[in-house]
Amino acid sequence: MPYANEERSQRLARMKERAAAVCRAGAMVALLAHSASALAAADGYENARQAMLAAVRATAADTRDYTGLARFDDRVMGAMAAVPRHEFVPPALREVAYLNRPLPIGEGQTISQPYIVALMTQLAGVEADDVVLEVGTGSGYQAAVLAQLVRHVYSVEIVEALGQRAKQTLARLGVGNVSVKIGDGYQGWAEHAPYDAIVVTAAPAAMPPRLLEQLKPGARLVAPVGPQHRAQSLRVLEKKAEGGIEVKDILPVAFVPMVHPDE
Ligand code: SAH
Repeated sequence: MPYANEERSQRLARMKERAAAVCRAGAMVALLAHSASALAAADGYENARQAMLAAVRATAADTRDYTGLARFDDRVMGAMAAVPRHEFVPPALREVAYLNRPLPIGEGQTISQPYIVALMTQLAGVEADDVVLEVGTGSGYQAAVLAQLVRHVYSVEIVEALGQRAKQTLARLGVGNVSVKIGDGYQGWAEHAPYDAIVVTAAPAAMPPRLLEQLKPGARLVAPVGPQHRAQSLRVLEKKAEGGIEVKDILPVAFVPMVHPDE
């Protein structure tokens, strides 16, 4: 049936043309991504990253009644787009790195769900000149996202193997404005205090007093607070310029516990 064959070859030609156009568009996206970010440029994960951003947007819309936010700032989403999350997970999990879920990073610890990273970054209310403290470096991913938006991130990790690995990952990616210290983040990092924002990514049973001390007046601390294996609350504490602390409970969450050796 020559006619059918003819039609088939025309269809094939059209499909090839469309595929080529998609490839050209992909190359354009990669080029644009490159100019937008040196970190996550043309690394083969652009589609996965876009899907992750869409999932974060959808979850933000779903949780608006809790957070009071239907969407996150473009700056926050830009930082999420710029950081190659697959570089922060164990090699065996790279293919699922951009799913909107937490993943194990070894030593019994986890990298938070992308939506939670974006939410905490948003709630911290950071600005370009800020100096920020993070407690619980883990993989270094949350620190890298914050580092896109602020002057410097100081991050404390209590598990030496994780802290060392995070340092290596950040150095490999050329993230120069994060300092990682191995130590007990329950005590904060007094040397560089006071901070313009503090982000805590392990859950203390109650708010560590040193962290509040190390917060600038007018600044915010974002932390999951609550007992292990029971409901924790993602809480924002704002140190009022005129004194006093305003506390807001945002969302029920499940974080790994903050180790507190002195307790
Ligand atoms: N922010 C991380 C995820 C953190 S998981 C990321 O983006 O990957 C919580 C981390 O807090 C774990 O690595 C855990 O070892 C660390 N941690 C627990 N208690 C701590 C403490 N007292 N001081 C510093 N880090 C602590």
